[in-house]
Amino acid sequence: MGNLTDRFGRDHTYLRISVTERCNLRCTYCMPAQGIRLKPKTELLTYDEIERLAGILASLGVRKIRVTGGEPLVRSGIEQLCERLSVIKGIDMLAISTNGTLLEKKAKLLRNAGVENINISLDSLREDRFETITLRSGHADVLRGIESAINAGFPSIKINAVIIRGVNDDEIPDFIEFARALSISVRFIEYMPFPGNNWNESQFISFNEMKQRIEEKYSLTPLTRDEPVPGPAKEYQIGSSDATAGFITTMSEHFCGSCNRIRLTADGRLRTCLFAKDGVDLKRLLRAGAPREVIEDAIRSAVLLKWEKHPDPEELMTNQDREMTAIGG
Ligand code: SAM
Ligand code: SF4
Repeated sequence: MGNLTDRFGRDHTYLRISVTERCNLRCTYCMPAQGIRLKPKTELLTYDEIERLAGILASLGVRKIRVTGGEPLVRSGIEQLCERLSVIKGIDMLAISTNGTLLEKKAKLLRNAGVENINISLDSLREDRFETITLRSGHADVLRGIESAINAGFPSIKINAVIIRGVNDDEIPDFIEFARALSISVRFIEYMPFPGNNWNESQFISFNEMKQRIEEKYSLTPLTRDEPVPGPAKEYQIGSSDATAGFITTMSEHFCGSCNRIRLTADGRLRTCLFAKDGVDLKRLLRAGAPREVIEDAIRSAVLLKWEKHPDPEELMTNQDREMTAIGG
């Protein structure tokens, strides 16, 4: 039993760090059009504080870190933070999730900073539709960002698409072709309910339906994962190509039983689940000068108390203390 094992025997080796609540897009399923009320800058963890907490978490057993947000590339000097995180003892894998709009100039810097795995969100291959979904322009920037990531030589590049019925589900085959053409991975994410995102069941498309639709034209061969710290996706090889398709099945087949993830919010709270209501305020402890052992105890206690599984969609929609951009998807 490790330091970060919970009551249900789950070991927590994967830390997602939200470095900012800000974002330059307004994806309708994620953020209100007017944006969210941002916390004062002083409430957000500094890079020194993030590095310190990541170091403590690594000493307790975290092996993989994903930098996320909000949009992590809007925070200045993000590559410097990545460099600091990548050399923390015990961290074997550094990953980042981005919307790709600012990636063209940052891809090489991030790769040089030790980022190995990059997920780029793109919900439509059509410019007009991208603008309808994100309420912003920038489609061409994302495409150039993807190209830069390929040129920068990241070992793993994944395109993340949230699929919503009547919005972009007709593009599922186009995403498969896109992945095949670039020999990269595409991941189809089930649409999740959050307070204020107007989720409704009729717009929801399950993993099974997405997979069936793809299999009308392509064969999908299940891939066994040999990653030391697995992510939550079900992965398939597309035909005989180098490209893969993955599915994040949060809603239809929750993977709570094998969840290895914890989250550090931009304002320094440790959340043991994306859907959890609150979190332990590690920033407060840090700023009060708490000794390392006290912070370690707070982390261990929070993990121990993690719930067995997340609640049903109806309840998730009414939980007000959750903003995807603050928690970090
Ligand atoms: N801004 C970055 C980006 O878009 O990749 C990182 C943060 S974003 C919150 C992380 C991931 O959460 C993205 O892939 C996004 O599509 C996903 N996401 C946000 N809201 C979602 C929802 N309601 N259902 C499913 N996925 C969602
Ligand atoms: Fe921004 Fe990412 Fe949320 Fe879109 S999904 S609004 S890019 S944080």
